[in-house]
Amino acid sequence: MAFDYDLYVIGGGSGGVRAARVAAATGAKVALAEEYRMGGTCVIRGCVPKKLMVFASTYPGQVEEAKAYGWEAQIGGFNWDHFSGKLNAELDRLEGVYRNLLGGSDVEIHDGRAVMKDAHTVSINGQDYTAKHILIATGGHPVRPDMPNAHLGLSSNDIFKMKKLPKSVLIIGGGYIACEFACILHGLGVEVTQYYRGAQILRGFDDEARGLLAESMMGRGIKLHLGTNIVEMAPADEAHGPIPTASDAAGGGGGVPDNHAEHYSGPIWVKSTNGSEETFDHVVFATGRAPNTDGLGLEAAGVKTNRRGAIEVDKYSQTNVPSVFAIGDVTGRVELTPVAIREGMAFVETVFKGNPTPVDHDLIPSAVFTQPELGTVGLTEEQAREIEPIDVYCTSFKPMQQAFAGGSERVLMKLIVSQESRKVLGCHIVADHAGELIQMVGIAVKNGLTKEQFDATCAVHPTMSEELVTMKTPMRSA
Ligand code: NDP
Repeated sequence: MAFDYDLYVIGGGSGGVRAARVAAATGAKVALAEEYRMGGTCVIRGCVPKKLMVFASTYPGQVEEAKAYGWEAQIGGFNWDHFSGKLNAELDRLEGVYRNLLGGSDVEIHDGRAVMKDAHTVSINGQDYTAKHILIATGGHPVRPDMPNAHLGLSSNDIFKMKKLPKSVLIIGGGYIACEFACILHGLGVEVTQYYRGAQILRGFDDEARGLLAESMMGRGIKLHLGTNIVEMAPADEAHGPIPTASDAAGGGGGVPDNHAEHYSGPIWVKSTNGSEETFDHVVFATGRAPNTDGLGLEAAGVKTNRRGAIEVDKYSQTNVPSVFAIGDVTGRVELTPVAIREGMAFVETVFKGNPTPVDHDLIPSAVFTQPELGTVGLTEEQAREIEPIDVYCTSFKPMQQAFAGGSERVLMKLIVSQESRKVLGCHIVADHAGELIQMVGIAVKNGLTKEQFDATCAVHPTMSEELVTMKTPMRSA
């Protein structure tokens, strides 16, 4: 049977765009559909704008430190209009880059919402197209808890589109997004309260690392309430406009960002599980994300999803329907941009280069861009000691630059080492620039280097990270 395309990609995020380009470079005829803006979560409403906000939020701290070093320095107020104008221009530019890259790779771009009709057919803008292979790369969207008035809260998508910087926010959640935005908004001068329902933020990360990070965040002035959740919320001041109904806030299930109902911009009254009642300019829900699978035509094509709605795939990213593959957040595997990109490349290698390539999801380094940052790769102490006997090399100290300025915050450098093989099984860093550091350590851990091989590497002095090659005695063994 002759198909219109060799590959039809649904979703123009990092994974979909890379897969489309690399497949087209093999000579395949490729089309890609995107219903919103090219670039997806990472470029348009995730990693990129978030990191630019991180940069913006660190300057007040730097100016304070500069003063301690003898500079006569003073920082004024933050101009949100200036920043968000530049941010939007930058996102427009990046979107253009993505479009040009696709065009330059001979990928046909279809702007619109594509829906699958069967295992080889996609319908978009009233037109049907057939393809030998279909790749679903539709990503995910933020979800709010199921509670009355939850639609009054913002999601991470909405933060980038705020008309002005609020004076106060309540952030709900203790994951990556909650902690990153708590630090960003606090750095920008917003009074930040954070409720996390569990005993400690960043569940799943190394206990010692998340404990130190939580202390640092509180030390900087974030009002973090652990074991606390929101139970009720309502408009505090009806004078700010008609109160929106839940249907005013678009669902977001299809990949287009869900929009905070714009009608009501007034303060929000909140009651918490500890009985306290407070009013905030905004409530931000950072309570997790869900895959964009609703209304995609998966049933018509016979593609299976799991209980969370994520598309089930094998190690080659192939679904139960042989012609249909899926990569990135829509598969609910590891929700990170570089992983989606790798999944896309492995898909092309497997399907278009005849070289079956499973995706390697082992030992993926990652960073939480809080202040300070948390960088991590491999097993946590808690995970490792369930598997085998370990030595824990760990140090926590005041870094030189900050100590000189009179700061009290400590950094953490921690290595988890197998007693038997001496391999470094995990590394956890809480420090400024931990994201940059963990990228480098990740190479060593991924390649199975031992503690002794770390130590055979000469220290770079004076740096914080020299501790990673100079810790001689285990802090404890388990
Ligand atoms: P996470 O799953 O990391 O965090 C969700 C948080 O919300 C958890 O603390 C969870 O609590 C809490 N939560 C869930 N439901 C409720 C509820 N009903 N009431 C109160 N709290 C609730 O999701 P994120 O949205 O923060 O991030 C999604 C993914 O995106 C991450 O896993 C990561 O892979 C990726 N990401 C990566 C970044 C990076 O690399 N720097 C940055 C941002 C996102 P509990 O722990 O109890 O379940």
